[in-house]
Amino acid sequence: MSRATHCPYCALQCAMFVEAAPGQAPAARPAPFPTNRGGLCRKGWTSAELLASPQRLTAPLLRTRRGDFTEVDWDTALDHVAQRLTALRERHGPDAVAVFGSGGLTNEKSYLLGKFARVALGTSQIDYNGRFCMSSAAAAGNRAFGLDRGLPFPLPDLAGAEVVLLAGANPAETMPPMMRHLAAPRLIVVDPRRTATAEQALKNGGMHLAPRPGTDLALALGLLHAVRAQGLVDTEYVAARTTGFEDAWRHAAAWWPEQTEQVTGVPAEHIRAAARALAAASGAYVLTGRGTEQHAKGTDTVSAWINLALALGLPGREGSGYGCITGQGNGQGGREHGQKADQLPGYRRIDDPAARAHVAGVWGVDPATLPGPGRSAFELLDALGGPGGPRALLVFGSNPVVSAPDAQRVRNRLAGLDLLVTADFVLSETAALGDVVLPVAQWAEEEGTMTNLEGRLLRRRALLAPPPGVRTDLEVISGLARRLGQPAERFPADPARVLAELGAASAGGAADYSGVSLERLEAGEEVFWPVPDAHATTPRLFLDSFAHPDGRARFAPVGHRPPAEAVDAEYPLLATTGRVMGHYQSGAQTRRIRELAGAQPEAFVEVHPDTGARSGLAEGALARVVSRRGAALARVRLTEHARPDTVFLPFHFAGEQAANNLTNPALDPTSRMPEFKVSAVRLEPAGPPDAPGAAAEPARAAPPHG
Ligand code: SF4
Repeated sequence: MSRATHCPYCALQCAMFVEAAPGQAPAARPAPFPTNRGGLCRKGWTSAELLASPQRLTAPLLRTRRGDFTEVDWDTALDHVAQRLTALRERHGPDAVAVFGSGGLTNEKSYLLGKFARVALGTSQIDYNGRFCMSSAAAAGNRAFGLDRGLPFPLPDLAGAEVVLLAGANPAETMPPMMRHLAAPRLIVVDPRRTATAEQALKNGGMHLAPRPGTDLALALGLLHAVRAQGLVDTEYVAARTTGFEDAWRHAAAWWPEQTEQVTGVPAEHIRAAARALAAASGAYVLTGRGTEQHAKGTDTVSAWINLALALGLPGREGSGYGCITGQGNGQGGREHGQKADQLPGYRRIDDPAARAHVAGVWGVDPATLPGPGRSAFELLDALGGPGGPRALLVFGSNPVVSAPDAQRVRNRLAGLDLLVTADFVLSETAALGDVVLPVAQWAEEEGTMTNLEGRLLRRRALLAPPPGVRTDLEVISGLARRLGQPAERFPADPARVLAELGAASAGGAADYSGVSLERLEAGEEVFWPVPDAHATTPRLFLDSFAHPDGRARFAPVGHRPPAEAVDAEYPLLATTGRVMGHYQSGAQTRRIRELAGAQPEAFVEVHPDTGARSGLAEGALARVVSRRGAALARVRLTEHARPDTVFLPFHFAGEQAANNLTNPALDPTSRMPEFKVSAVRLEPAGPPDAPGAAAEPARAAPPHG
C-alpha cells in the first residue's frame, strides 16, 4: 500500500499501483483498500494509458489572430493571461473575471483556487462542476442533519445490512467495486431504467421500483405513507431524535400507495412490500444518487428519502443509515473548501461575518475585501459575455460545453467572452474553444489529498514525473497570483504547505481538516473528517446526536410537484441521462482511451421496441433526439426493459452527440441543480442502421475572442 495512489475518476477512489517498466507505457493495477477491496473497474484498469498519450498537451497554447493555436513558453502564456485579466478588471471591475473549478481537483487545488478567486482576483464569480453533481443531496443533508458528508459511515458497513434501498444510483455500472459491499443485503433499486444494479437486485431476491422520470419524490412520499399506514414508524426514535414529523406527514398523508401508483407507475403492492422490507430489516440503509438528485426539485426529493429513513429510525444508528453516493473523484472535498459560489473553506458560508473574519485572518487580508456570494454554476455560465456578466473565464479541470445543461447555449455564451483560459492535460471540447490553454500534470504525477465518498482522507501520490513542459495546477495558480501582484508566500505551489494552510482555514468549521497531515496518511491511519486535532477521526457521524444545535434531525415538509417541463404532442417522450461503465463524466479522458472508446465509441439511445416502432426506428438505426432546446444524434438500442414513455442517453459524448444539447437548465431553488434527468423529447430517424457513427471530434479551432 505504501506506494499506492488512487484512481483519477469516481468518488470510490479505488487504490491502485501505477508502474512504468523502462521503455514501456505506465500501467495501473489494483491495490488493497477498504473501498475497492482489491478491485478496479474497466476505467481504473485503463486509466494509466492517458499518462503517456500523444494527445497530451505539453506546451501552453495561445490563440493566434488566424484563429489557430501556437505553442508558447510559460512566461509568455502567464504574462498574457495576467495582462488581459488586469485590463478587464480595471475596465469592468473584479466580477468581470470568473473561475470555474471541478469536483475532480484535489483538496489543495480546490482551496487555493477559491482563495485565488477571492483574494488575487477579488471576484465573487466562482463555482464548479460539482454543482451539477451532488448539490441537491448536500442541501438536503444540511437541512436534515446540520451537516453534509455523503456517507456518514464507512462503506464496508453496508455489507452488514439486510436491506439497502438505492434511489437513482447505479453502482454496478458506474462504480462496480462498490458492489462488493452490496453482495449480501437485499437491494431495493429505484430507477426508471432496468439498470445493471436493478438486474442484480432482481437476481438476488430484491426489488426494482421503476417510477416515471420526475416522480421519485411522489414515490418517497408513498413509501412514507406505507410505512405509517402499516404501523412501521419507529416512534421512539422519532420522538427522541427528530423534529418535524407531523409537518412532513401532512405532505405524505395524501399519498396512499394506490394514489402513488397513479403518478409514478410503481404498483401499490410493491410500495407496501418495500416499506415492510425496510422496516423489518435488522440493518437497513437508504442511499441516493444522481438519478433522484438531478432535478429542479432535487433537494426536496432527497429530503423525502431522508424523511423515509428518519421515520424508519435509520440515520445515526450503527448498522443502519442514510447516505448520498458522491460521484466525482473529489466530489466531497471539492464541496468543502471554497470553490462554491457561497462558501469559504471548512464548509463555511461566505456571508457569515465570523467565517469571513476567521478565513481572512488566515489569508492575511481585511475581511471587508472578500467578495460576497456569486452565481451558481449554470447561472454563471449563462451570464458569460452578457450584460453585467463576466468577460473572462478561467476553467480548471472541467469541460462544461459537454457537461453543462443546454450545452449549445453554454457554447454560445463562451463565444461571447473576451478571454477564455483553460488548464487541462488534453484539448477538451472546452479547451478547444479557448484563447489560452495551460497544460497541467495528471493525477499520478502530483501530490495532494482527496476526500472520498465516505469523507475519508486519501493521499494522492506523484508516482511518475510529468512530461517536460507541464506544470501542476497549483504552480499555475501560484504563477498567476504573483503576476497579479500577490506575494509569493500567500500562494504557495507546494501541496504540503497548501494542506497545512487549508487545515488552519478550515479549523472550527463543519469540515474541519486542521488535524489532517501527510504523516498520518502516510502511516496508513484511517482519517475521516471532521478532524479537529492530530488524533481525531470520525468514521461514523451522528451516533449520539445530529449537528443541529438541539442535536435532533429535521424532517422536511416537502410535497411533490411535476417536472419543470411537460410532454405534449410535439415532444411526447421523456429523456433521462446518465453514465455507462466505460466512460466518465464528459468523456474528455475516457474517450481518449483506446479500449474504452472501442467498447463504446458513440452515443446511444435506449428505447422500448414499441416506442421505436412508432418512431420508425429499428435496432442500430441512427436517431435524432430532439428537445425544446436542441438535438442529439444517437444509435438506437431497443430493449424491452425500457419504459415506453422514456428514453435514456449517456452524457459522455460531445458535439452533435451531446445528450446535454437536450437537457433543461431549470434550477432547483435551493441547490441550483439543473434538471438533467427529465427533458421532453421526440425521436426522429436520422439515418439507416449502417450509417457511420456521428462520432464527434473535438473542435480544433474557434473564432478568436475579443
Ligand atoms: Fe474505482 Fe471509480 Fe476508478 Fe472505477 S472509476 S476504478 S470504481 S474509482
